[in-house]
This record gives sequence, structure tokens and C-alpha cells, in this order.
Amino acid sequence: MRPDRRGAGLLPRPAHGHFARMRLEPTLLKRVALVALLCVPFAAWAFYKPVRLLAPSLAGVSCITNEVCTDAPSRSRDAAQLYDEAIRFVEANVGRFESRPHVVFCESEACAQSFGLGRSTAKTTGPLGTVFGPRAWKPYYVRHEFIHHLQNERLGMYRLHRGPEWFIEGMAYALSEDPRTELAEPFEQYRSQFDAWFRSVGKEHMWEQARKL
Ligand SMILES: [Zn+2]
Repeated sequence: MRPDRRGAGLLPRPAHGHFARMRLEPTLLKRVALVALLCVPFAAWAFYKPVRLLAPSLAGVSCITNEVCTDAPSRSRDAAQLYDEAIRFVEANVGRFESRPHVVFCESEACAQSFGLGRSTAKTTGPLGTVFGPRAWKPYYVRHEFIHHLQNERLGMYRLHRGPEWFIEGMAYALSEDPRTELAEPFEQYRSQFDAWFRSVGKEHMWEQARKL
């Protein structure tokens, strides 16, 4: 196409000057806003790594099912077994899920860090899902994180953010039947406090009472 040398880009010369220009030419501010908006997903992907749990296969892990992915395909069976066992356990002992948790089992530290694990063994980020690091391939760790997933579903992540910590962590350690007799503090104390609270409210009223904490 023949270049337009009038200086107004490819826009036709407006019939009614000012009004037509405003309508056709996006202001600089609008362009900046649009570019910023388009950058949000990329920025989130780059800087807020748990977002990668939304599309783990794009982050280089293989997905065995819709919910379970791993960087170690040779250990797919272990991953699937850990997942199924923990789902059954938590649903039978704590409560039913509205939706099944999405998880990534990482054998390598590099995989764990690419999903934002940091210094934790495993981490559940609201409804996005859970990443299990190299040390977390154990039934009670998977049950523990699935209890956090259930807490998110029952109480909502904003309510959960308020704590109290003894309830959130104490419940996950106690009801996952973590076999460690003595946990590192403050978790041992959280577990005892939860146990005492749980005995006093009873399983039936647990969620209703938890909302009042
Ligand atoms: Zn926890």
C-alpha cells in the first residue's frame, strides 16, 4: 500500500476534525494501559511462580492425569498412588472435596523452585494447586497439603489468610496422621492446641466452629 505522508498515520483525514480524531486515535495512556494489561499474564508467569500450576505442562513437566503432573515420568506410578491414597484418606477422615486438587510432584530441586516452592517441603497456593518437592513424596505430606486444599474450599483463602496459625497448621499435622512424635516448634504446640480444640468441638461441628475462630 502507498505510504500516507500526511503525518496522521493511516487514518483518514477527519471530516469533523477534533471529534473524529478522539474517536479514532487511542491516547497514549490507553495504549500504555493496553500493553500493561497484555503483560500481566507474562509477568505473573515470570514473577509469581505458583501461577505455573495453572498450566504445568507449559512449565516443562509431564501430566499423567488432568490433576497430577511430575518432572519424573519414571515415577508416575508412585505419584498417582500417593495422590489417590491421599484423596481417599482426606475424604474419608476430614471432608469431601468440591474439586480435586491439581498437583506437581517434583523430583528435582530445579522443578520445585520453578513452581515457587522456596524453602518449604511442599506448598499449596489457594485454589491454584500444590507443589511437592523432592522430600515430600510421602503419604502424610500429601494428606497434609490436601487438608490445606480442603481448608481453602471450606473457609476461602481470604478467611484462611487471617489464621489462626495453630488451627491451619495444627489441623493439617493432626488430621493427616503425621507419624512424627515430636514436630519442630511451633508446630508441635499447634498440633496439641488443635487436638484439644477438636476434642471440644467434635468432628461434626468442626467447620462451623472454625469459621468463628
Ligand atoms: Zn501446612
